[in-house]
Amino acid sequence: MCSCDYDCENDCCQETLNVFPVVLLILTIIWTYYVYVYEMCVRLIESTTKCAIYLTLFHLLFIPFLIMYFIAMFHRQWLVPEEYQFTSSFYNRLMSARSTTEEYNILYNFVQDNNFLIYTRSKNGSFRYCTECKLLKPDRTHHCSTCDACVIKMDHHCPWINNCVGFTNYKYFIILVMYAMIFCFFYASTTFEYCLHFCLNFETSKLRQLNIVLAFFATLALAVALLALFIYHLRMIFNNETTVESIHDPHFEPVPGVSRTTYDKGCVENFEEQCGWNCCYWFLPVLTADGNGVEFDIVRYNLRRT
Ligand SMILES: [Zn+2]
Ligand SMILES: [Zn+2]
Repeated sequence: MCSCDYDCENDCCQETLNVFPVVLLILTIIWTYYVYVYEMCVRLIESTTKCAIYLTLFHLLFIPFLIMYFIAMFHRQWLVPEEYQFTSSFYNRLMSARSTTEEYNILYNFVQDNNFLIYTRSKNGSFRYCTECKLLKPDRTHHCSTCDACVIKMDHHCPWINNCVGFTNYKYFIILVMYAMIFCFFYASTTFEYCLHFCLNFETSKLRQLNIVLAFFATLALAVALLALFIYHLRMIFNNETTVESIHDPHFEPVPGVSRTTYDKGCVENFEEQCGWNCCYWFLPVLTADGNGVEFDIVRYNLRRT
């Protein structure tokens, strides 16, 4: 039981809750490793050649997946640049604004003074700002209540890596999903034979082989779920859209004669903006996203084109 005071609720108790999915996943990874290497390869497979091939392929997929998992988990996001931060006197002035127009004018002057390029607006038509971090939100920046920080080009907060997925680590996350998906498909396909044997010879099979059956179904279910997630995020990359934006459409500043504003510049350009043009880097954890993470190109469609 937590011995924290009431004020500590958002610190250690929340931390424990945040770490729980990560611990659960790491325990599952350890268990699947044990089942595959010891229960299946060492104790069940009789052919030495087959055992060596399975173990080699297993580790060739398992190690990159594990490295990507820790990279995605411990990656620290780029912060919103300091220029976007409000000084305490400016913030007090903003908070004492008596109307939306006055608030807009204060923020408009701040944007003009700093030469910021901001196309998105809040629902009331003003510039977006964060009262928690006390800063002006650049386009595509959102506040993550779990990380308690504003994340540039935020996609979502992933509980399985206990980290936000945003501008600097979105590609790492996609590579992690891809490596994990391939690993799970390999795992399920190579354990299938032994899973089937257990089910067909239930009475003579040893109970410890039940581990293989459970691991088969767990990895198969995970592989299918990861495939769906991978396809979903590929679609997001090709549409130049984040998960947050797919749930809540961004409000762009209204421009006379413009019917639609979007970040979507076409499949190829969108893909290159996120993953770069050099295919050598597509599957490696190196930052290839174009830009600085706070200013983004937009496409405007005029009324006649719709
Ligand atoms: Zn914030
Ligand atoms: Zn977060």
